[in-house]
Amino acid sequence: MNNDKQCKFDRRYLEMARIWAKNSYCQRRQVGALVVKNNMIISDGYNGTPSGFENVCEDDNGITKPYVLHAEANAITKLARSSNNSDGATIYITASPCIECAKLIIQAGIKRVVYGEKYRLTDGIELLERAGIEVVYLEV
Ligand SMILES: [Zn+2]
Repeated sequence: MNNDKQCKFDRRYLEMARIWAKNSYCQRRQVGALVVKNNMIISDGYNGTPSGFENVCEDDNGITKPYVLHAEANAITKLARSSNNSDGATIYITASPCIECAKLIIQAGIKRVVYGEKYRLTDGIELLERAGIEVVYLEV
């Protein structure tokens, strides 16, 4: 794929991830992620509690519950239950991944990360770069 086309596709997928993020019932922050391989969306995720738990992310004090999964973690673990896999895939995330998700991204064999919103902590991005993963930041 040429660069212009890749860039156009990257923007479109990121836009889709933003739409997907709206599924999140979290009040503080809504994040979406899509895993794309061979031009196909093979998984998706948004931040939320594990399957079967109440659809509430924050406790009475507005603090995010410790068992809330991040969008990236949801998208990657969803693949663990499917017949597909993320080896060599690209993940589109509406926000910069944290270090915990960066570890999952590395171990899932994902080769490219496209994200759309910077975060004050950059340790996740640094870890991805250290692992030789291509990281692309796209402004809205
Ligand atoms: Zn995370």
